[in-house]
Amino acid sequence: MEGALTARDRVGVQDLVLLEAHTSETALLDNLRKRFHENLIYTYIGTLLVSLNPYKELDTYSKKHMDTYMGVNFFELPPHIYALADNVFRTMLSEFNNHFILISGESGAGKTETSKKVLQYYAVSCPNTSLLDNVRDRLLLSNPVLEAFGNAKTLKNDNSSRFGKYMDIQFDHQVGAVGGHILSYLLEKSRVVHQNHGERNFHIFYQLVAGGDDELLRWLGLERNCQNYSYLVQGDCAKVTSINDKSNWKIVRSALSIIEFSEKDVEVMFCFKLISAATGINSQEDRSQNGGGAATTTTRFKRCLQVYSPFAVDHALYARDALAKAIYGRTFNWLVNKVNESLANKDSSRKTVIGLLDIYGFEVFHVNSFEQFCINYCNEKLQQLFIQLTLKSEQEEYQMEGIEWEPVPYFNNKIICDLVEEKHRGIISVLDEECLRPGEATDLTFLEKLEEKMGGHPHFVTHKLADQKTRKTMQRGDFRLLHYAGEVTYCVVGFLDKNNDLLYRNVKEVMRQSKNTIIKHCFPYTEPDSKKRPETVVTQFKGSLAGLTDVLMSKEPWYVRCIKPNDGKKAGRFDDVLVRHQVKYLGLMEHLRVRRAGFAYRRKYDIFLARYKPLCPSTWPKWKGSASEGVLCLVKHLGYKPNEYKMGRTKIFIRHPKTLFATEDAFEL
Ligand code: ATP
Ligand code: MG
Repeated sequence: MEGALTARDRVGVQDLVLLEAHTSETALLDNLRKRFHENLIYTYIGTLLVSLNPYKELDTYSKKHMDTYMGVNFFELPPHIYALADNVFRTMLSEFNNHFILISGESGAGKTETSKKVLQYYAVSCPNTSLLDNVRDRLLLSNPVLEAFGNAKTLKNDNSSRFGKYMDIQFDHQVGAVGGHILSYLLEKSRVVHQNHGERNFHIFYQLVAGGDDELLRWLGLERNCQNYSYLVQGDCAKVTSINDKSNWKIVRSALSIIEFSEKDVEVMFCFKLISAATGINSQEDRSQNGGGAATTTTRFKRCLQVYSPFAVDHALYARDALAKAIYGRTFNWLVNKVNESLANKDSSRKTVIGLLDIYGFEVFHVNSFEQFCINYCNEKLQQLFIQLTLKSEQEEYQMEGIEWEPVPYFNNKIICDLVEEKHRGIISVLDEECLRPGEATDLTFLEKLEEKMGGHPHFVTHKLADQKTRKTMQRGDFRLLHYAGEVTYCVVGFLDKNNDLLYRNVKEVMRQSKNTIIKHCFPYTEPDSKKRPETVVTQFKGSLAGLTDVLMSKEPWYVRCIKPNDGKKAGRFDDVLVRHQVKYLGLMEHLRVRRAGFAYRRKYDIFLARYKPLCPSTWPKWKGSASEGVLCLVKHLGYKPNEYKMGRTKIFIRHPKTLFATEDAFEL
C-alpha cells in the first residue's frame, strides 16, 4: 500500500549494525528515538546492548518473557537484557570461562535497574530446589538491603547509587547460580553529614524513622520526625513522593532476616542502633562556649555514649561529623561483609562466574566536589577499559592477524586518566602531597600547585589560567576538567579534609570501648599505628580501581550502555540534544563503525576445526594438513561466501553471527 509505514520505518532496526552504510549520528539517533516511542528501549550494536531508561514500568520483564529468551540465539528475538544475560550464561557454559557485564551510563540512566534485571534473570532461571531457593532469595534480597544503606535521592536520580558495586555471581554448571560475592567501592560518606538542596541522606535513615515500630524507635531513642534531625533535613526534602519509605522499610527489614543475620536479630538491632547514632549525633549537640573561644561540645549517641570534647567549637563539630561518617562508613562495610557471608558458596569445587558491574555514573552538578571528582575519575577508568577491550584491541587484533582494515579513529581518554592519576605528576599525587603538609597546606594551596603543574594541559583549566570568556563561567576556587563525557568544574573547598578523612584518635578509643559488638568490630585495635600515615581516600580508591581493572581484564567482557532520555525523569520524552551527547561520549558511533567493518566472531583455527570438522567429509574424522587449510576446506564445503569470512594468521574471522548459527544448526540436520 502506497504511503504505508513498514515495520522498519516505524520501529527502526534492532541492531544498529544493520543501518544503511555510512551511518550518521543522526540516523543512529533517529533509530533509537523511533524505538523508544514504541516502548522498544533495547537496541544492539552487535553484542553490545543499548538501553534507554523508559521512566515507566514496561510489561516485558515477566517470567514468561524470561522463559522466551532462555536458550535462544541472540538475534532471533527482539533485543532484551534477558537475551544478553542468557547469551553470557550460555557462552560461559560452553567455554567454561569467566565473564563480566559492564553496565555504564550517567546518573539516572538505568544501570542499577538493569543490573537487577540480570540478577533476577539468573535467580529465576535457576532450578527449584530448597537449597537454591535460599541462594536465589539471598541474591535478590541483597539488593534492597544495600540500596537502603548505599543509595540516596540526588537531584539526578531518586535512587542514586552512592557506592560502586561489583558482584560476582557464581555458577555451578549442573544447577545454576549457587552463590555470590560483592565488592563495594567508595561509599559517599560525606552525605551522612551534608546534603545539597533537593537531596537526601541515605534511604535507611528515613525508612527507619517512617517504618520502624514504636518499640524499636523507643529503644533507639529516636522520634518519628525527620525534622528533629538536622542530618536528615539539610536538603529540605525528607519526604519524596516517588519513594515510600514505610513500605521499603518492611522490605529491608524482612530481607535482613533472610540474609542470615544472627538469631533474634541482635545484630540487626545493633546495626540500627549505629545508624540511629549516626543520625542522632547532631540533635543532641550541646555547646557551651567559654570566654576564650574554646568550647566543650557534648555529642551523645543516645543511650550509647557521650563524647565531651574540649576543643574549639569548629574542631568539635569537625570531630562530630568525622565520627558520624566513620560510623556509617564502617557499618556499611560490615554490612557488605555480612551479606557476603550469607551469599558465600561453601562448596569449594571450581565455579565459573559472571560479574556485574554497577557503579555510580558520571555526574555534573551545579557545584561539584571531591566526591564527583572520584566518581568521574572512576568513569574515566571504565571508559579506558572499554576502549582497551573493544576499540583498541579489536583493531590491533586485525592488524596482527593481517586482516585488511581501515582504522576507525576514536577519542582515547588515556590522556585524562593520566592527568588524574599519573605517578608523581597527576592531580591525585598533588592532592596527596598537600595532605602531607598539615597546618600549612590548604585547599587553595592545592589549587595553586595544580596550576603550577597542570597549567597548559589541554584538559585542565582554572579561573586564573582561563581565557576571558571561560573565566566568566568559573569561580576563583575552581578547577575544570574536560572529561571524555563533558566539562566538569570542581570547587576545591573540602578536598584536603575529605581526602585525609581523619578521625581523632581519642574518639577511636571511645569507640573501641563500646559494648556494641558491631562498633567494636568496626573499630578494631589492630588498626595501623597512628604514627604510620594511613592511605588517603583517593589513593585507596585508585588502588581499588586498579584491582577492579585487573579482575575485569581476566574475564570476557559484555557491555550495556544505558542512556537517559531526558533530565526530567519523564516517561515518553526523548530529548535529542541530551541523547546525542550521550551517544557521543559513550562512543557508540565508533563502536558501530568498528563493529560494522569488523567481524562478530573469531576463533583459532584448531579450535574451530575441532568443533566443526564432523560437518565435512574431507575433514572428518581426521584432517591431515594444517589447521588453517582444514578450516578453509570446511568453510568451502559449508558454502560460506567470500565476504562472510576472512582467514587471518592464526584465526578465522566470521562477519555475522548468523553464519555461525547456521553452521551450528547444521549439526542437527
Ligand atoms: P546512578 O548512577 O545515579 O545510580 P542509575 O544509572 O543506577 O543511576 P537507576 O537507579 O537504575 O539509575 O534508574 C533511575 C530510575 O529510572 C529508576 O529508579 C527507575 O525509576 C527508572 N528506570 C530505570 N530503568 C528502568 C526500566 N528498565 N524500567 C522502568 N524504569 C526504569
Ligand atoms: Mg545506580
